[in-house]
Amino acid sequence: MKNFWDEEEATACGDDPLALRVYSSRLIGRASDLVLHGGGNTSVKAEFTDIFGVRHEVLYVKGSGWDLATIEAAGFSPVVLDALMQLSRFDVLSDADMVRAQRAAMLDPGAPNPSVEAILHALIPFRFVDHTHADAVVTLTNTPGGEARIRELYGDRLLVVPYVMPGFVLAKKVAQMTEGIDWTTLQGMVLMNHGIFSFAEDARESYTRMIDLVTEAEQALGVVPSPTTGQSGASALELATIRYEVSRAANRPMLAAFSGSSQSHCFSKRDDVVSIATRGPLTPDHVIRTKRVPLMVNDDPAVAVAKFVSDYKDYFDRHTDGKLSRLDCAPRWAVWQNRGTVAFGAKSSDLGVISDIVDHTITAIETAEGHGGWCALPEGDIFAVEYWELEQAKLGKVSNAPAFQGRCALVTGGASGIGRSCAIALAEQGARVTVLDKDPSVLTVFDGPDIQGRVCDVKDAQAVRESVAESVSIFGGLDILVNNAGIFSASDEVADMPEEEWQRSLDINLTGAMHVARESIPYLKLGWDPSVIIVGSKNVPAPGPAAGAYSVAKAGLTQLARVLALELAADGIRVNTVHPNAVFDTAIWTDEVLEGRAAHYGMSVEDYRKNNLLRQEVTSADVAAVICAMAGSAFRCTTGAQLPVDGGNERVL
Ligand SMILES: [Zn+2]
Repeated sequence: MKNFWDEEEATACGDDPLALRVYSSRLIGRASDLVLHGGGNTSVKAEFTDIFGVRHEVLYVKGSGWDLATIEAAGFSPVVLDALMQLSRFDVLSDADMVRAQRAAMLDPGAPNPSVEAILHALIPFRFVDHTHADAVVTLTNTPGGEARIRELYGDRLLVVPYVMPGFVLAKKVAQMTEGIDWTTLQGMVLMNHGIFSFAEDARESYTRMIDLVTEAEQALGVVPSPTTGQSGASALELATIRYEVSRAANRPMLAAFSGSSQSHCFSKRDDVVSIATRGPLTPDHVIRTKRVPLMVNDDPAVAVAKFVSDYKDYFDRHTDGKLSRLDCAPRWAVWQNRGTVAFGAKSSDLGVISDIVDHTITAIETAEGHGGWCALPEGDIFAVEYWELEQAKLGKVSNAPAFQGRCALVTGGASGIGRSCAIALAEQGARVTVLDKDPSVLTVFDGPDIQGRVCDVKDAQAVRESVAESVSIFGGLDILVNNAGIFSASDEVADMPEEEWQRSLDINLTGAMHVARESIPYLKLGWDPSVIIVGSKNVPAPGPAAGAYSVAKAGLTQLARVLALELAADGIRVNTVHPNAVFDTAIWTDEVLEGRAAHYGMSVEDYRKNNLLRQEVTSADVAAVICAMAGSAFRCTTGAQLPVDGGNERVL
């Protein structure tokens, strides 16, 4: 393990103990081998001067919901030390009473809830206390005879604490074990199947002890063989099938992220994978993210998920006290045998957290297998943490999730105009969006991880097939298709129609849309409330002269939508059409085209922009809002419909 301590940076903290605490907490947080995504906690004992100038001895302890990698001074709660010491003397203390009493003992009411381990931190008579779930230490404890190995490795330098529930029970256990002990002989504590503590009077020494102790555990395990290179692929359709079954089990749409990294792939191919992958998590803290065991997929995902769900119900029934309500029965990750692993989550940020935990878990399991075998805690202990209200509180509330959370969308022709507005609107409402466009600017026009651009010309059937499959393999499915790619051809009358202009319009506006629909159908059939929205044109119900190539292609597209609505209804796929008109913030409407059309009707450009009954200028965002509504529950019972978004048009009414 690398020691990241930098004396210059530490000196910049001055002699402010909290600043130093922030500094060395971040050093711990940046090592994923020590803590992952909010795991672990740290503290410092210091003085706090209140508004009256009165000084108090406090424990600044990591607040719930903060991540050590990014923590700031505001992430530490100042809790009166004496109050925590008094709490440690209770024989029993309910979680609710503990949380309430700790909050009452905080000297800053705006600070976050103190860590569940605050009482334990208070009991340790050193200024700086660091706690991690270091992979190497937990791996060693999760092997047969793990406790003996730990004792052999660390001798009397560390206190070895048998596994008990984190929180007050753990604090009580340590208090009993250390009664009358000379703390100065200790550098830290190993919590069996859970993690490690280091402590010292000095920030640097406590941090360095953590690094040194974990390095010793790494050395005892030997060097982990570096994985061979290469990635395994997965069929997009099979991934979509797994995601379909998992979403049904969760009763809400879930994203599915496949990993075929050499590590995941090799793990999934092991002969003993079913046995070793299903013994339990690396540390109990992970269970709220990953559930106790993964889904094991070999051939039929429906059978595999049904087994997972029924096993989960049995597990709940075995351990519930009759007062708990069961969480959803869907898995959070899968071992897809001979392929790799899959993470499931409603948000892409969940997928990142789960994927990281899975990578570390796999490494730990394989390492432990090389040291006598992977052992995990009994399922009752894992259940207690999974259903511990203080753990579940970390996940936050899901009730106000955005409308399209967990859903996957594909938008064609999305580098600009209506398509771009749609992609942004869908992403704002929680969807993960892939945007296809033949314009390479699609690769750079969107920020953030929620919208992925991909260059694709819808005329090219093979490219469309690959792009749709690629889109599905990013987040596991396709639920919303916005078939928008189109061009507005130059305005020739039929008498003067150039052959290539006619053909180009049909190829892009009609055949291109058919390609996208055709290649999407197998995935939409596995979608969550699947919906197709076709972007037609006012020119369909109300054509004008000198736009024949465009109007005819869009009329064909509308007929395609009607046929699709008939063909796909049995699969629950809705197909609806919007007919926008005069949306001028799109790539089609260059200044030249706008002036030309205005002149054609003998109007000023300004009048032409608002040439509708409502005298409203229709924007691409207006059209996107209607398209989002069509993809949502308001249109649950509507298919085959055509809706104008044109400000009102006498010829359409
Ligand atoms: Zn812990």
